[in-house]
Amino acid sequence: MNPAKSGSDSPFPVILSGPSGAGKTTIRDRLLAEARSPGFLFSVSMTTRAPRPRERDGVDYRFVSRSRFETLVDSGAMLEYATVHGERYGTPRDNLDRAREAGAHLLLDIDVQGARQVWEAVAEALSVFIVPPTAERIVRQLRARGSENPEQLRRRLTNARSELTAAAEFDRLVVNDRIEEAVDEVSALVAKGLVPRRRLGAAEWRYVKRIIGELDALRPMW
Ligand code: 5GP
Repeated sequence: MNPAKSGSDSPFPVILSGPSGAGKTTIRDRLLAEARSPGFLFSVSMTTRAPRPRERDGVDYRFVSRSRFETLVDSGAMLEYATVHGERYGTPRDNLDRAREAGAHLLLDIDVQGARQVWEAVAEALSVFIVPPTAERIVRQLRARGSENPEQLRRRLTNARSELTAAAEFDRLVVNDRIEEAVDEVSALVAKGLVPRRRLGAAEWRYVKRIIGELDALRPMW
């Protein structure tokens, strides 16, 4: 029997969201490197932001002009789209078709605005919110990235706070303390083929609220 075709093994989109600095990209890359069936297909987003050093067009993102982006939105070619940190980001609808054809889970690394649009459009999507264990980790990781000036850093931290407040809408919370454990946790959730719950449990939400409180306490340092 082809495992990709049997009941709970049928692939579905997996959304990873969470504040900048939570380690989403590392988790995503580890999941993509896993040998599993069904595997993951990374959803390459379109963006109007400039490429960072080492980012490759068509692999990390499809880098497009603002006018091209808006034309695609107007033509209905986007599954979801949003403005994040002042730039446009979106998921071409084609990505879903590609994953279906490949028999793979489409792995989306998108913000909470985009996540809402995807789970509205695709009922079986599983949404996972990734948080670091402390707010201090968010600040430290954003600083360490070094790619942003102080103004951009502040904007990302403000945005991180507002992303955290949306966590409650997600199916599951994964705390990225140790990367291997976080990857295993996401992997296990996907393997279970869970029916989306679309609300965090009370204890999970309390965890996120603590991080929001910590981030507010660190605000003078931003
Ligand atoms: P970065 O510029 O650091 O690569 O990404 C900034 C934020 O945009 C991240 O939270 C990332 O998840 C989000 N993002 C990336 N691609 C998309 C997309 O296609 N749609 C939406 N809504 N958000 C995206």
